[in-house]
Amino acid sequence: MELFELYALFTQCNGVSTDTRNILPNSMFFALKGANFNANEFALQALEKGAAYAVVDDINLKKIENNKLIIVTDVLKTLQDLAGFHRFHIGLPIIALTGSNGKTTSKELLHAVLSKKYNTIATIGNLNNHIGVPLTLLRITEETDLAIIEMGANHQKEIELLCKITQPDFGFITNFGKAHLEGFGGIEGVIIGKSEMYDYLSENKKTAFVNFDDATQVQKTQSINHYGFSTKNNPAANLQISNANAQPMASMQVNNIDIQSNLTGSYNLPNIAFAVCIGNYFNIPFETIKQAIEEYIPQNNRSQWTKINNKNILLDAYNANPSSMQVAIDNFCQLQEPSKAMILGDMFELGTASNTEHTTIIKQAIETKIPTIFIGQHFYSNQIVSDTVKYFTNLDDFITHLKKQPINNHLLLIKGSRGMALEKIIDFI
Ligand code: ATP
Ligand code: MG
Repeated sequence: MELFELYALFTQCNGVSTDTRNILPNSMFFALKGANFNANEFALQALEKGAAYAVVDDINLKKIENNKLIIVTDVLKTLQDLAGFHRFHIGLPIIALTGSNGKTTSKELLHAVLSKKYNTIATIGNLNNHIGVPLTLLRITEETDLAIIEMGANHQKEIELLCKITQPDFGFITNFGKAHLEGFGGIEGVIIGKSEMYDYLSENKKTAFVNFDDATQVQKTQSINHYGFSTKNNPAANLQISNANAQPMASMQVNNIDIQSNLTGSYNLPNIAFAVCIGNYFNIPFETIKQAIEEYIPQNNRSQWTKINNKNILLDAYNANPSSMQVAIDNFCQLQEPSKAMILGDMFELGTASNTEHTTIIKQAIETKIPTIFIGQHFYSNQIVSDTVKYFTNLDDFITHLKKQPINNHLLLIKGSRGMALEKIIDFI
């Protein structure tokens, strides 16, 4: 079937489904394959459950006479092509963002700001990969004014592909950090891989939003149309942000208006500043931007304050990499409370840099003199003995220990990679 024919069918459907446990009535089902599943096996079930069509790529399904089965060469490629076609057909402005850290936070803040004036859709949660991006694009309707698309990557050419599908009019990179070092091949590889976003914007004469405090961003966007902010005194920036401060919560001033967020950590300042800057570019008054940012409460274990048994916990267990770990520890040091402790879990996907990066974090933690518990094989095997630190190879061992010997400190930082699932500790605090 030609793409335009498939698109004609799609326009009669009620969106897209990919999971038979969750079929939207009258939707188009895409039978995707993963490492442990092949949804071709569930295509007929999807139709029984109310999908209007099922797009499949298992030729054995050809034998079945069912005009609701659409056989293609590659379901994933078809999903991506359909999303690109839809995006092109609808033709609204799209803002794409990538970066090592702070994508979801920046996206949520920007969504809150732009939604004050425009009918805006944004990536739900963290659906930022080669499947999540097309699914997000296919949620756009004729009523949508603006779309914000988060793009994640752990190797080269991924952002290039996502940009080809998305065709963004605007783009920004939150930062270049030490994340997914294994797939990218070191920090230089991260800069090249993330900058595929700038390459797309440059080739297609689109606009980049820039953090003028970041020398790499400034240098890489020199020859692209750009619009940006600075929290320092930088005359080249379009928007000057002053009094940026993260104590106790990230706050800043723009055009004499104070913006007080509910986000902790100086690392959130650029995330907020991007939302302010882009809101301003899209003609949202600063008073309205202020309101949107002040209303935003972080969720999903990202830099989230929780109070349990009289302890204040900064739960940042959603993810970790060397850059975000370092800034989280720096930020925690600055919090004024004498009785503090940190519980830090392994950082994954670091390849050959893993031992060095875990050692660096251990040294940083020891230097703070804050009592620290390290959990995971990587920290354990790189341990440095010191009075203030303890090591556990895995979470279960630590929880067993915790049951016998509870933590007495009043203020805790909990941070580790997603695979460590450190939020489980909360139930035992
Ligand atoms: P993912 O790669 O999982 O999609 P992300 O880039 O979307 O991550 P967020 O989910 O917004 O990032 O934030 C994850 C964590 O990264 C935060 O809880 C915080 O610890 C850290 N972080 C957020 N913003 C920054 C930043 N600008 N610089 C460094 N670390 C940050
Ligand atoms: Mg994210």
